[in-house]
Amino acid sequence: MIKLRFASPEMLVDINEIPDLGYHRIDADGSVHVGALCRHADLERSSLLATRQPTMAAAAPLVADPIVRNRGTLVGSLCHADPQGDWASVMVSLDGLVVAQGPRGRRTIAVKELVHGPFQTTLAYDEVVVEAIAPAPKGAPAGGYLKLERRVGDFATVGVAVSVDRTGDEVTRAGIGLTGVGGSTISADDAAQLLVGGPLTSDAIGEAAALAAQAAQPRTDHRGSASYKRHLVSVFTSRILTGLIRSQEEAA
Ligand SMILES: Cc1cc2nc3c(=O)[nH]c(=O)nc-3n(C[C@H](O)[C@H](O)[C@H](O)COP(=O)(O)OP(=O)(O)OC[C@H]3O[C@@H](n4cnc5c(N)ncnc54)[C@H](O)[C@@H]3O)c2cc1C
Repeated sequence: MIKLRFASPEMLVDINEIPDLGYHRIDADGSVHVGALCRHADLERSSLLATRQPTMAAAAPLVADPIVRNRGTLVGSLCHADPQGDWASVMVSLDGLVVAQGPRGRRTIAVKELVHGPFQTTLAYDEVVVEAIAPAPKGAPAGGYLKLERRVGDFATVGVAVSVDRTGDEVTRAGIGLTGVGGSTISADDAAQLLVGGPLTSDAIGEAAALAAQAAQPRTDHRGSASYKRHLVSVFTSRILTGLIRSQEEAA
């Protein structure tokens, strides 16, 4: 923002030297905790995510390019509140939270509540986010992230994050987050809710994909028409969910 002259702050606070914020871990209950200085590259290389948090693992290599991934952070990306930020949709799909700390103490904010507009958050001016949390899954976690970018390393034309927790065949929790198709990250709640309480079937997937496309609010621009982007939301949602059925069949 500073480089592009969109922002010229009078003061910058560098949090890079604060110790012990570079962690990520998965607790016994399966919740994922990511410290404010954990870099995208740490998450991309994480064996923890690769084996236990598939939606985050799928997104990590698709954020920007290797240079940006070496320095940028998941928490910084959430606080940046870019509608084209990949992590916000992923965390929305996981019902993610952030822990904000300020002079009045700590509070927990749902990522769905954190971002309230393009580059706007509900953080107070004197708060910093110290941690992002993906809460414990309600069953076996599955999911994915798909992104269309004009070239490798670019921001998303469209991105879709899907997260599904299952006990046996039954979906016990689902979340769908949309990148780049609105003024802020979109949580396709109706589409996700439709999946809960039964098995993933091709009918349910078709309906969820249609509802996700309806939830999108894309605009026509140099990256594509609104109808093209809406179509991609449907295709990506369907593709990720169909892939989950296939993986479950292969594992059986
Ligand atoms: C060339 C380029 C390509 C990119 N491509 C993509 C992409 O494809 N997908 C994508 O998702 N992102 C992309 N990004 C953004 C990138 O992922 C950064 O991670 C993101 O901008 C945040 O960077 P940062 O962690 O260094 O935070 P900063 O840039 O330092 O901060 C971003 C904003 O968040 C605030 N902030 C940061 N940390 C905190 C905190 N702990 N508490 C409170 N406020 C905080 C800052 O004050 C600032 O307003 C790209 C960036 C560049 C430069």
